[in-house]
Amino acid sequence: MLRIQGVHKSFGALHVLRGITLDVAAGEVTVIIGASGSGKSTLLRAINHLERLDRGFVSVDGDLIGYRRSGNKLHELREAEILKQRRGIGFVFQNFNLFTNLTVIENVVESPRLSRADGLALLDRVGLVDKADAYPRQLSGGQQQRVAIARALALRPKLLLFDEPTSALDPELVNEVLDVIKDLARGGTTMVVVTHEIGFAREVADTVVFMDEGQIVEQGTPADVLDNPREERTRAFLSKVL
Ligand code: ADP
Ligand code: MG
Repeated sequence: MLRIQGVHKSFGALHVLRGITLDVAAGEVTVIIGASGSGKSTLLRAINHLERLDRGFVSVDGDLIGYRRSGNKLHELREAEILKQRRGIGFVFQNFNLFTNLTVIENVVESPRLSRADGLALLDRVGLVDKADAYPRQLSGGQQQRVAIARALALRPKLLLFDEPTSALDPELVNEVLDVIKDLARGGTTMVVVTHEIGFAREVADTVVFMDEGQIVEQGTPADVLDNPREERTRAFLSKVL
């Protein structure tokens, strides 16, 4: 479903992604862990073409992101075509990014132009039907993030990306959001989740990827990477977060 091949990205002299190669099969959950500054967010943004790649490619369900092939030449897509591709990829941010001037249900139905009934069905999946007509400021952080997840689902994405979805939340609100994500994982949604929640990774991930300084240092099952890491850098990181 997702193929990342030899991806490099620099910001000026800062070489942030240094040859990332990763495949995620349909229905699988990949959890990315790694220290702050290791390039995790840049990688998620690259998947969605929010960052332009310097080298390498990303494809989602066989579609090359940001480019069109003709013969053996690549043409960069125009903004409208990129937006269309991006609609197939849901993105949930650390800080929710809800429209504060719209109600909960309006946030969900606005962009894909869903009916109210379809919007309510999505809110039901995240347990928030009763908040449909509230405004984001009237909700807790955990509830706002669940709305953001419902909004991402509204586009019927082939792939869902989560960038530290619980790190802006008070500790007692983390689980309600993780439970929704677990539910989606069980339902077969293909996803890539950047998180520091190691317990969640152990429970939900098919594959755990440890990134450091713009490279994948180690990847494997949760049991391999979290309980029997082969690389010293992985061990050093885990000893700090566990
Ligand atoms: P992580 O999500 O793992 O904490 P990021 O991908 O956010 O890491 O950032 C990796 C590095 O790239 C950091 O040093 C960060 O400061 C830098 N960086 C990220 N985005 C930009 C940008 N738009 N311009 C310049 N530097 C950036
Ligand atoms: Mg980040």
